[in-house]
Amino acid sequence: MGRFVIAVLPGDGIGPEVTAEAVRVLEAVGRRFGHTFEFHEALIGGAAIDATGSPLPPETLERCRRSDAILLGAVGGPKWDDPTAPVRPEQGLLGLRKAFDLFANLRPVRVFPALVGATPLKERVVRGVDLLFVRELTGGLYFGPRQEAGPDGEEAYDTMRYTRWEIERVVRLAARLARGRRKQLTSVDKANVLAASRLWRRVTEEVVRREFPDLALEHVLVDAFAMHLIRRPAAFDVVVTENMFGDILTDEASVLAGSMGMLPSASLGESPPGLFEPVHGSAPDIAGRNLANPIGAILSAALMLRYAFSLEAEARAVEQAVEAILEAGYRTRDIADGETCIVGTREMGEAIAQRI
Ligand code: ATP
Ligand code: MG
Repeated sequence: MGRFVIAVLPGDGIGPEVTAEAVRVLEAVGRRFGHTFEFHEALIGGAAIDATGSPLPPETLERCRRSDAILLGAVGGPKWDDPTAPVRPEQGLLGLRKAFDLFANLRPVRVFPALVGATPLKERVVRGVDLLFVRELTGGLYFGPRQEAGPDGEEAYDTMRYTRWEIERVVRLAARLARGRRKQLTSVDKANVLAASRLWRRVTEEVVRREFPDLALEHVLVDAFAMHLIRRPAAFDVVVTENMFGDILTDEASVLAGSMGMLPSASLGESPPGLFEPVHGSAPDIAGRNLANPIGAILSAALMLRYAFSLEAEARAVEQAVEAILEAGYRTRDIADGETCIVGTREMGEAIAQRI
């Protein structure tokens, strides 16, 4: 019977609504399996700017530091959209990634049998999709040396830079995850053109051959992979790739699940706390109306159980409850399609918690 401390950062827009349901589900897991989850709420994003002037107040950071895991809602919204403002909600999230060196972003994409009709692809293509993307999050093009063109500049550049060590640590993490799944690892790069990708491929090959000889490893060029992802998504298991390729491919993959509201994520570093949050943003258009789909947040709580606390049976119980509730016809508005029962954020969360 474990005892786990969780920092809850609801944030902005629908963030507070969906995290409340994830907390409800974790409480149900605690009751059923005899664990104690201790929740501590703290401010982040726009809500934190309004209250303290900072998107990541020191108390929040300290709260996270003293926790085993962080559950986050979403940050941002029209109220704080001024690009010239000195502080912006997104800095709260970037600050957390930096503070805990969260270098790997995990995004599982599953197509639940009950939702095959909700995706724009053919049923035979999406049936059985169960992918896990591992995106490198702290290096590459987004963080390499850059030159802004400036007001009258005629040239600008960004640099895709990776070191062996940065590649090794994310590939190792992805390989360990593949070992716990179907033992298939796909590394996506652009090694026919980019030097950073050639290093990526060489290091990946070495690490996997040497330390994970039991895995089936394949290298796929990013352009080809973008195509395979919609032609035969069920063929892949764990996919590891650099920062920008991962950014683009995970958005492409999100379409398979039927709605942005379905998708969870986990950002992990070498040590706790990891950060668990739904893939979607703050969705200001539906905030405060009990319309948001809480499943992305609830499945993020399942990832927390699995990756932060090593509670595999508990994680599965959450995933199975989500699957059962979808089979029973419960739908929030974003995944509704006719004969199903449209419920609100809270009712969806209660149904899943009840099932557990
Ligand atoms: P961000 O910049 O924070 O990523 P965004 O503009 O990309 O935000 P989201 O906030 O993710 O977008 O919302 C995109 C669209 O998807 C919106 O129309 C929103 O209403 C819808 N949406 C997002 N999350 C959910 C959810 N959990 N349930 C229902 N609809 C959602
Ligand atoms: Mg977005």
